[in-house]
Amino acid sequence: QNIDKYVDSKFQRVFILKGIDLEVKQGEFVSIMGPSGSGKSTVLNIIGMLDKPNAGEYYFLDEPVHKFSERKTSELHKNHIGFVFQAYHLIDELTVYENIETPLLYRGVKGKERSSMVAEMLDRFSMVAKKDLFPEQLSGGQQQLVGIARAIVGEPKLLLADEPTGNLHSEQGKDIMELFKKLNEEGMTIIQVTHNEAYAEYGTRIVKLEDGMIVSDVQNKK
Ligand code: ATP
Ligand code: MG
Repeated sequence: QNIDKYVDSKFQRVFILKGIDLEVKQGEFVSIMGPSGSGKSTVLNIIGMLDKPNAGEYYFLDEPVHKFSERKTSELHKNHIGFVFQAYHLIDELTVYENIETPLLYRGVKGKERSSMVAEMLDRFSMVAKKDLFPEQLSGGQQQLVGIARAIVGEPKLLLADEPTGNLHSEQGKDIMELFKKLNEEGMTIIQVTHNEAYAEYGTRIVKLEDGMIVSDVQNKK
């Protein structure tokens, strides 16, 4: 590809992503790999509707997201997408319990159902005893687990996870990958970013990025 067309000399802008063409089908589990700075988080943020691309089209469930207002995209995001952030992004003022509960509140899930969904997550991530602590009272790995619990508590159609295992020791990392595999088998579409070859192998497809471009995109046979 001709890189020059992605450098806008008049405005001194450099395009971070260069002609990304990616179609993900429902039920896929995609692992995105690539060097630091290659654009992995940027791609994930666009798919998650947290960033808007300057150019191009993006369809989600056949809906033209690139034409939507901010309000409509945030509506789509909150109803269908779970997002695990590279830097956790927990809300400091809220407890573990309340952080996990947040997406359910946004979505209007009612009291009893909501508390049982949160309780299930606390149990699954062995966080029952920590439910009233605040993020700063947790280790990095524990904060990461809370971030993952918050992303999956509402059983989103699409789970986006940016280095979800980055701060976990290998045993916990493997547990998370097994959990993602199970969720995927139950029908959740997953796109994860990872630096870890072994964890990437859990995906049904591996996409490699370099310098804002897709350099490899292969089905992962097992
Ligand atoms: P890492 O593995 O370190 O997380 P990454 O592949 O996720 O890297 P991105 O965070 O997507 O990389 O960044 C891709 C490029 O975009 C980098 O060159 C980065 O400096 C640039 N970039 C990211 N966010 C911004 C921003 N808000 N403003 C300007 N440039 C940015
Ligand atoms: Mg990143």
